[in-house]
Amino acid sequence: MPRPDLVIAVDGPSGSGKSSTSRDVARRLGADYLDTGSMYRALAWWCNAHQIGADDAQAVVTAAEELPLQVETDPTRFRVRLDGRDVTAELHTPQISGIVSGYAAIRPARNVLTERMRAIIADRRRIVVEGRDITTAVAPDADVRVLLQADPQRRIARRVRQLNGAADEQTVATQVVGRDAADAASSDFETPAEGVTLIDSSQIDLNTVIGLVIDLVPQSLR
Ligand code: C5P
Repeated sequence: MPRPDLVIAVDGPSGSGKSSTSRDVARRLGADYLDTGSMYRALAWWCNAHQIGADDAQAVVTAAEELPLQVETDPTRFRVRLDGRDVTAELHTPQISGIVSGYAAIRPARNVLTERMRAIIADRRRIVVEGRDITTAVAPDADVRVLLQADPQRRIARRVRQLNGAADEQTVATQVVGRDAADAASSDFETPAEGVTLIDSSQIDLNTVIGLVIDLVPQSLR
């Protein structure tokens, strides 16, 4: 497989700021951007639409293999299409957020999506990839590896702001904490693996976090 010139891997739990950070780092470095959570969400969307429950692991693995998925990796207009239909906006509904972890917990389905992610990465020259297991499982050899953290109160507050009043703080808190707990069995996004830089965004603003990530990129690759 060809190798990109630059791969930046950003892991972290929901609300840690990893999407905003990764998108902006990609923009500033003229790189592509891959939100791997959207690929798990697309799998959940597709299975839900085809009445494939997370309890039918074999059918989910087949769905992951055959998923007619297209991702547009431009950081200014990241898009996900399934069978030609743009489902980007539908991937972030509370319904999909509520079921995605069940599908993501199926190890052989993760292996299939991991290979699909690697194929997308290999096909780009410079790319920022975000998720929960990118620094460890998907691209452990990335040039820059970051784990973004923030204390739970900050993460919940960020999600409440992002949802723009669509859900109250208590509901969001239950969702965020519940999804973290469900995802913890699939990947360890709490502790940085060896060689991974931990950035705690609790007390610093987005611009500072972006600057810290870019500082980790070797000068010759900026
Ligand atoms: O990042 P986001 O919150 O959109 O991810 C949605 C879900 O996809 C996560 O809750 C997790 O279940 C799954 N996921 C994963 N590994 C990744 C990215 C996302 O298991 N690399």
